[in-house]
Amino acid sequence: MRLKKITYEVVHLPLKTPFKTALRTAYDVAFVRVCVTTDGGAFGLGEAPATKAVTGEGLEDIIASIEKVRRDLLGCTPQEALAKLHASEIGSSAKAALDMACVSLEVAQRNTTLGEYFALGDRTPMETAITISYNAQETMVQHAKEAYAEGMGILKLKFGADITHAIETTRAIASALPHAKLLVDPNQAWGVEESLRYLEGIADGAIEMLEQPLAAENIEGLKRIKEASGVPVVADEAVFSLEDAKRVMGSKSADMFNIKLMKCGGVTRAIELLEHARQERIGVMLGSMLEGPISINYALYLAFAYRDVIRFLDLDSPLLLTHMPKEIDFIYDGSRITPLL
Ligand SMILES: [Mg+2]
Repeated sequence: MRLKKITYEVVHLPLKTPFKTALRTAYDVAFVRVCVTTDGGAFGLGEAPATKAVTGEGLEDIIASIEKVRRDLLGCTPQEALAKLHASEIGSSAKAALDMACVSLEVAQRNTTLGEYFALGDRTPMETAITISYNAQETMVQHAKEAYAEGMGILKLKFGADITHAIETTRAIASALPHAKLLVDPNQAWGVEESLRYLEGIADGAIEMLEQPLAAENIEGLKRIKEASGVPVVADEAVFSLEDAKRVMGSKSADMFNIKLMKCGGVTRAIELLEHARQERIGVMLGSMLEGPISINYALYLAFAYRDVIRFLDLDSPLLLTHMPKEIDFIYDGSRITPLL
């Protein structure tokens, strides 16, 4: 089995409501879908969304990266292609799209299914967090109440630089929904002082964790927050690779880290991170960007395959779309997810 052709297209899927974080507002999910075809006619698909704010890659950058490595990968077996891909210098999202296409060829080569490839065992439902976008306090409280009323028990609150807004909104949601689990993600919008003010300003037990409050490079600051915090501090933008994870966790600067296919460069790299977490007994969050169905589907297989190390799951992307995509091998019953097969 050798790679014969690599093609791609840009796909846009509409969102129910705009997705707002401290870094951006999105009105649809836009991604590059890559298709890798072999000499025997098998094909594998992969996807990478534009997330300039996190990985530095827009759609044009992802396409340019695919073009850059395309000739090198043609003629390779899926395994050779994966090795060349991960030795290349292209962006992590483009890598992730090509990585999952090659993994899907490996699955075809073994004549197996994704469920068998990932050795899914326990299929009891897992629950994903649901994003409550960054908005005015009343709007966020309203959205949180609506989500909770629809059976979503884990809410991920997105905040911006305004700490007073973050404190007051957290307090309002925590008192309106005392049984909801609240995760908080300001996407690097705060400084050390603001973060400490936030933690002091909310009631004890109001939130389950605080994700990446500081700029990605401020690892020392993150450590200060971790030491002061009564809830787990999760590194997201600060951890792309296994090396990052070892540095951040080794220096005890965070309690957990967030693994995303687009940051680490795909399924094979995510498996390395998950294996590392399992070995070191580190809890992880498995998350995603706003992504297309093929990449979310892979993240879901990883979630079930490594459920023992996953403390938080953040794969609500399909629920934010106007239609549930047919490519997903899992059923979403509100925020509860079960494998179809
Ligand atoms: Mg995050």
